[in-house]
Amino acid sequence: MSKIFHRSSTQIPLQAVAGDGAYLIDQNGKRYLDGCGGAAVSCLGHSDEFVKQAMHEQLDQLAYAHTGFFTSEPAETLASNLIAHAPGDLDRVYLVSGGSEAMESALKLARQYFIDKGEPHRHKVIARHQSYHGNTLGALATGGNKWRRAPYAPMLFETFHISPCYEYRHRAPNESSEHYGKRVANELEAEILKLGPESVMAFVAEPVVGATAGAVPAVEGYFKRIREICDQYGILLILDEVMCGMGRTGTLFACEQDGVAPDIMGIAKGLGAGYQPIGAMLCTREIANTIRDGAGYFKNGHTYLGHPMAAAAANAVLHRLKQDGLVDRSKQMGEKFKSALQDRFGDHPFVGDIRGRGLFIGIEIVEDRETKEPFDPAHKVHAHLKQKAMENGLMIYPGNGTKDGISGDHILLAPPFIITDDQIGELIDKLGQTFDEVFAA
Ligand code: PMP
Repeated sequence: MSKIFHRSSTQIPLQAVAGDGAYLIDQNGKRYLDGCGGAAVSCLGHSDEFVKQAMHEQLDQLAYAHTGFFTSEPAETLASNLIAHAPGDLDRVYLVSGGSEAMESALKLARQYFIDKGEPHRHKVIARHQSYHGNTLGALATGGNKWRRAPYAPMLFETFHISPCYEYRHRAPNESSEHYGKRVANELEAEILKLGPESVMAFVAEPVVGATAGAVPAVEGYFKRIREICDQYGILLILDEVMCGMGRTGTLFACEQDGVAPDIMGIAKGLGAGYQPIGAMLCTREIANTIRDGAGYFKNGHTYLGHPMAAAAANAVLHRLKQDGLVDRSKQMGEKFKSALQDRFGDHPFVGDIRGRGLFIGIEIVEDRETKEPFDPAHKVHAHLKQKAMENGLMIYPGNGTKDGISGDHILLAPPFIITDDQIGELIDKLGQTFDEVFAA
């Protein structure tokens, strides 16, 4: 029995012993095509020579120095390079160890900003149902996934939730996408007015919803209206690009495709590409300067802030993404992949929707395509799909459905950007076999 406190204490987990490009290999030598990058992490596959080399060089130079004493060249370079590519006025970077830390820091920064600005009454956070922002208490409270929140309710940190922008399920039959987008964005304004505009500090959202919905982008115009509302009421827009950022959707940041820039943004996963645990929070110069002129420093800290090894790995990842053209490849291969999935599964009796951007694609499974009725959650269709796929040598990321009309079971596909045409063919064949076996049962 494993002594590691894993999610499931009843199963002995498989042991990954090696990585080879788009494949992981277990202790028995079995190969698994990584169809989901773990959880949309491994954007460069599992044996990138350039990143490995950069990490070796950094290790020979310096492994760690506490940011209370020093900064380091890799951390400074990473911050500058992220800012050079970041949208809008994002101008400062806070380097942490993962996505939850990035989002938790974003919430704390927003709060300190308003205190230092002389608006301490702003403390309420509005987010969306069916979202995930991390597992630490603040990030968990912000997320709108009922299943993840339930065991910890009541939350220590009070948040308010509006509808997600989820066209497949919630756009009315005769409604245009444009009207639908405005209608759900306007829920934010209604919620602000209900709570009292002077008490609200931030709106938090994932541009493309990942784990809790299966790669659901907003419709065109939705985020523009959200940005307008935030500006009108002096509220910060915090975008969570932990999963959908770093090229996953075909642009370095997903919000570029929505034509908006946030005040604060969280990134992680693809930033370290699995080679190191790293995340970052980016904020505007206005926020950074207000804090500089207020308390003087951001009252937050972690031992591994700006970790040199993690930053060196992330610098190499960013080089591969931008200079070596892998963000563009995510876009091109994503288009091919999505259309191949449409060809193969578009008419499948239990496939309700195939959606997403770049190499970030979700398939929603339903019992009835006409009514969009999900399977009974007790059947755990998503878990069976994951299990069968693993038996067939394929990793897919499962998401559970609910019976209350929120969503059906879904799977998330987020393969490495280095995936080849042949490997896309292999992925689709293995997924087809998995569907055949699960749905024949
Ligand atoms: N935000 C989003 C959108 C995520 O998908 C995740 C992780 N699934 C997190 C935050 C939390 O990141 P981490 O697991 O690295 O703490």
